[in-house]
Amino acid sequence: MADLTPGVACALSPLVRRVLAPNPGVMTGPGTNTYLVGIDEIAVIDPGPDDADHLDTVASCGGDRIRWILVTHTHNDHSPGAAGLKARTGATVMGFGARDDFEPDEAVGDGFRVEATEFRLRAVHTPGHASNHLCYLLEQERMLFSGDHIMQGSTVVIAPPDGDMGAYLEALQRLKTLGIKSIAPGHGHLIEDPLAKIDEYLTHRGEREMAILRAMEDGAGTVDAVVERVYVDVPEELHPIARYSVHAHLLKLSFEGKVQGVDLDGEWSLAAR
Ligand SMILES: [Zn+2]
Repeated sequence: MADLTPGVACALSPLVRRVLAPNPGVMTGPGTNTYLVGIDEIAVIDPGPDDADHLDTVASCGGDRIRWILVTHTHNDHSPGAAGLKARTGATVMGFGARDDFEPDEAVGDGFRVEATEFRLRAVHTPGHASNHLCYLLEQERMLFSGDHIMQGSTVVIAPPDGDMGAYLEALQRLKTLGIKSIAPGHGHLIEDPLAKIDEYLTHRGEREMAILRAMEDGAGTVDAVVERVYVDVPEELHPIARYSVHAHLLKLSFEGKVQGVDLDGEWSLAAR
């Protein structure tokens, strides 16, 4: 497996290179992956944080052949580098829309295509982790740039209100229909068995949902009480993050009429049958 070392461009396929940003952490794993797609004309996917050394490395890999800067979503480990990379290359910045200090030159949505001489990238709207999340499919290699919709090495945090568990699961199902051969995630290594990974995610979420309902049958009536009972396999320092995912599950179950409640810190109960 190709190394994840910051500051070094690593070839993943004939058309794709990866540069790891120097921002490892609990939420980012080894750091944010910045991808360069193409040789003569280059699209950069997720410039990452506004880190001068990282942006210099990315720019030096492509120079003025970098024509497009695409952002999967506007969280601070993915989009803040866009302005600095644009200043270095003159490329056009694209993303779902202006938010979180991100200002695209062009707002793009589901079905948008970047047409380059050697390749085509198609945007797929995948809300769930963030409502403005786009994945990008490299049609020539059937490689999906999945941002934080799918990561290697961990599951994804779904934090309401911008995060939406129902939308997230629906978007995962849709990805299964796209004929994807590999997934280049926003964090971690290339995923070479995409359908197995997506099924693993769907199974994991389904099991969590069942466990949450069981915890509530056992009397848990708040997000914290559910986390205590359900997340026994997760280190306690991650429980504050798990609260968001439990809240997201409960909101989905509420939408389906199975539970009642609203707030992260409020009371939750099973719906009367
Ligand atoms: Zn991220």
